This record gives sequence, C-alpha cells and structure tokens, in this order.
Amino acid sequence: MIRRVIQIDEEKCNGCGICVTACHEGAIGMVDGKARLMRDDYCDGLGDCLPNCPTGAISIRQDVDPVWKALADKNIRVVAQIAPAVRVAIGDKFGIPKGENTLGRLVAALRHMGFDEVYDTNFGADLTVMEESAELLERLKSGKNLPLFTSCCPGWVKFCENRYPEFRENISTCRSPQAMFGALLKEEARMKAAEAEKEGRSLRKTVVISIMPCTAKKAEIKRPEHFTEGQQDVDYVLTTTEVTRMIKEAGIDLSQIEPEALDMPFGLSSGAAAIFGVTGGVTEAVLRRLVHSSRMEDLQDISFTGIRGIEGIKEASIQLEDRTVKIAVVNGLRCAETLLERIKAGEVQYDFVEVMACKRGCIAGGGQPVPIGPRTKQARLDGMYKIDSMAQIKRSDENPIIAEVYEGILKG
Ligand code: SF4
Repeated sequence: MIRRVIQIDEEKCNGCGICVTACHEGAIGMVDGKARLMRDDYCDGLGDCLPNCPTGAISIRQDVDPVWKALADKNIRVVAQIAPAVRVAIGDKFGIPKGENTLGRLVAALRHMGFDEVYDTNFGADLTVMEESAELLERLKSGKNLPLFTSCCPGWVKFCENRYPEFRENISTCRSPQAMFGALLKEEARMKAAEAEKEGRSLRKTVVISIMPCTAKKAEIKRPEHFTEGQQDVDYVLTTTEVTRMIKEAGIDLSQIEPEALDMPFGLSSGAAAIFGVTGGVTEAVLRRLVHSSRMEDLQDISFTGIRGIEGIKEASIQLEDRTVKIAVVNGLRCAETLLERIKAGEVQYDFVEVMACKRGCIAGGGQPVPIGPRTKQARLDGMYKIDSMAQIKRSDENPIIAEVYEGILKG
C-alpha cells in the first residue's frame, strides 16, 4: 500500500477549508465538513497546506522508523545519497555556522548510524547535466517541444502537469538527480546479485535512502516511472529535518564528529553539480557542459549572463555556435504561473526554462531546518557557490566516473 505524503487527521480538522485554498494543485477537498485528500495523484507533496492549517491537522509522512528498521536488519545493505542543499543546512540545528559545508560530518554520522555506503546526489546531478544538455541540443536541432523545461523539481513538474497539461511535452524526459542516481544504484546492485548468483553466492538486498531538502521528493519516488521491475528505485526519502532527528536519537553531535570522505566511485562530482541546490544552478551547469570550455573566463562569463541571483524570473541568452539560445530561470510557483501565461500569450519565447518551486531553490526546501529567514537563505546560497569555487572539477563531463559509467553500467 502506498502511504500518502500529506496526511490529514480528520479528528483535528475544524472544517475551515483554508487548506483547500492553499493547495496549488486542487488535491484537497471537503467531505462532510472535513478536509480530505481527494486526488492523491494531484498532490505535489510540497506541503503548502501544512503551515496554513490552524489546528495542526495536516502533517508530512515521516520515514524515520522504516529507515531505522532497515539499518537494524543485517540482511540489508543500506545505501544513502545526499542532495546538494542538505550539506549547507543540516548544521543549523547543531550550532554550526549557517551555510557551512557539513558534508564530511554528515557522512561520518551516517556511518556511525549503520549506513553501509554513503554517496553524493551530486553525482546524479552530473548525470542529469549530461542527459539534459544532450536533450536540449536535440530539441534545438529539431525545433520540437521548445522551450525545454527542466524536470529536477517534482513540485514544479506536478504543477505543470496538473495546471498546464498543454506543456507536458516540454518537460524534460530526464529523471531528477536523485531518481537517476537511485535507478543507477539499484541497477548496479542487480548486476552484482546476478554475478554472485552465478557463483552460487547470494548478496544482501539493497535499500536506497535519499537524504533530501524536499518533501516533494517523497512523492516523486512513488511515480510509476521510478519503478524498475515492479520495485521502487529509491526506497525512502528522508528530509534534512528527519535526518537531524535520527542523528540526535543516535546521540551524535554533528559539531563534534570528525568528518569522513564519501564512498567511491559515486562520491566524485563537479562544481556544476554542487550548485543544483540554488535557483539558476541547473541552467549554469548545463551551459558549462554546452560551451565546451573550462577556461575560468568562459565559466565566469556564463555566471554573469544573468542566471545567478534571487529574482523570481531571470532572463539570459547565450551564443551556441550560430544560434542565440534564450533562457528563463524561475523560482516560486507564482512566478512560474506568470511565465507560463506569458509564453501561452506569445509575449515571450525561450529555448530553455528552469523552474524551482521553492523560492531561491532547494536551499529553502520544505524539508530543511527552519526558520529560514533572508540571512539564512543567503548563507546557504553563498555556501553552495563556495563549494563550486573550491571544486577541482567544474564541468559535469569532466567527472571521470561519469565517463566510466557510460562505458559500463549505462553502456548502450
Ligand atoms: Fe523540492 Fe523545492 Fe527543490 Fe523543488 S525547489 S526540488 S520542491 S526543495
């Protein structure tokens, strides 16, 4: 049975209907004077209904218990992947300066808690860049289904599918980084299990846990396209807040633990992948791939095209060979609505549109520690760009493990 992401306690509901108005997607309705999730398939999992409920009747599903259970089971290999925006936020609840990169500390804490392997969703982001940039080039060539809309943000994808179905074909066919990486981890596990079986051995079952800044990712992993051979590619999504709770339950102080390195091979990623957690980051990463240059001057030129910054709608253009590619970068669903209406009315025309449902991107996702005031948001944003500036590999296609994966697991 699929457990819903948004849960409504009818006992607590006073029937005011505020959540019905707050829901962007029309997923909640009233039945016999009580709020009820009428269309689970319409729910984006963003939880915009939650802070608006005056009686606390709405909650987001917690997955801490099943993850503890998996960690305690010796027959299960538990593999974690950590999203880009988690590392600059999880330190908030441990007295670590805002925006500081705590990835190494988090890796160490997860190992103490029993995770067998810890990888980086940034690797999945590098894969996404490879696929999405190839898709953009193909669409520019054919002229079909332009603009290409990014598909990394499940809140945005659901919004577009529900409210603007006429643009469905514009959404990139690429999976999001967590979904792509989850599928890869499970495929690798299946290949290893098949090899072991030939030798008369059996391996532990693999369970993949994504650690995400986002409640909508809990809904994303239940989408039918994220199942392979009837099995979910990612088994559970834990938000930053849930992992904070687990770390505290385990008696670990993140500020005191010695940092550890990620596991290889999927612990290696580029600076381009690191900035996926901020508005404009996906676009910048794709453009780095397309301009075929690693010169610092060229990379800086991309960041100065207008795609960085916190405005709700940003516009930029970049020259790719003999073509000027027109880009829009959007954060917040209200701004997405404005932009889609303008595209529909023929007032604007783009080749590539990035949308993040949360203002400023995943750094302020619904699963991140609160409060998230402007200073906290800025510190997290600065933290993400700092990780990029420190990265030795700047472009996704320069990640040597990506090439290996295309020659290995993903061959053909
Ligand atoms: Fe999730 Fe918000 Fe990031 Fe979209 S922008 S992926 S809803 S955290």
